[in-house]
Amino acid sequence: MRKKNQECAYCGSIGKVTMDHIPPKLLFSRPLPNDLITVPACDKCHGETSKDDEYLRLALQMRDGIAEHPDVIKSRPTLLRSLEKPEAVGMRNSVLGSIVGAELCTPSGLFIKDILAMKTRMDRVDRVVARITRGLFYRYKGYIVPRGYDVVAGSKEAVDKLPPDMRNPLDEGVLNRLLAVPAFCIGNGVFSYRFGTDKCDANITCWILCFYEQAGFLGMTFPISCLNPSGAAWHTITTNLPG
Ligand SMILES: [Zn+2]
Repeated sequence: MRKKNQECAYCGSIGKVTMDHIPPKLLFSRPLPNDLITVPACDKCHGETSKDDEYLRLALQMRDGIAEHPDVIKSRPTLLRSLEKPEAVGMRNSVLGSIVGAELCTPSGLFIKDILAMKTRMDRVDRVVARITRGLFYRYKGYIVPRGYDVVAGSKEAVDKLPPDMRNPLDEGVLNRLLAVPAFCIGNGVFSYRFGTDKCDANITCWILCFYEQAGFLGMTFPISCLNPSGAAWHTITTNLPG
């Protein structure tokens, strides 16, 4: 792809950039949709991401419910080919090492059968989601997440596990408000997002990101000073969303 001198959407350095797709284009089947979002990325930021992008694809596409998505079925040969490549030895080992025995149950807890499942490294997935949040921030604001602010991301499942004293304010202050605004969708339901900006601080933003209409994530940008030592900062957000 053509390179020119521009600001990197992730680190802010000025130099030759490559247009980086958010979310990663390998999540989509071919032909690619024509409304993919791109942001400029320097070689360092662009190069750091490809392994994590592949891991995100694998973690998402092997999930129950997503494996049957039409785009996933269509792109499965590409996924399998990518795992067969010699340079994918690290990825293969990490997949094999993460296979665990599990019990398949109905939502009400009735045992169905023993299955093999992939234990997902959520820290790795969250890292990609945080980068997507950073890229979307740049696209909408026209500047990088400023110094003094940071991005955090977590899955819906992680949010669901928060204790009620953290979860309730998050529901009221952020999630319910965001879910009331229309989502932007890209591809055949492959990716959708909604977001809101705090009315008092334009750099505090909250994003609900969803992959394949199933895997939901929350991403946020906010002041580092609000982060508590554990990094679990959801409850510090008392925002006026959306705005
Ligand atoms: Zn960069």
